[in-house]
Amino acid sequence: MSSFAHTLPYDRMMGDVYVPECPFCHSENVLTPMTDRDYQQGCEEIKTRLVMPCCNGKLMIKKIDSDYFWTTEAVRKTQ
Ligand SMILES: [Zn+2]
Repeated sequence: MSSFAHTLPYDRMMGDVYVPECPFCHSENVLTPMTDRDYQQGCEEIKTRLVMPCCNGKLMIKKIDSDYFWTTEAVRKTQ
């Protein structure tokens, strides 16, 4: 399994979580509706659902590390 395809980079600033590029519609610098509680759950490897505000694309996050969301379905196409 390619784990790279299941990662999505993010940035967290002042409690706000941004995705540099939406994996669905490719909007840039999308501010997500992820709350602190959702974020903490993700860090504790509790599955967290995220709906992208730009296009309603749905992600299921199974883990959050310091750089990436780890998703249950591939969010990137491998070359
Ligand atoms: Zn989008």
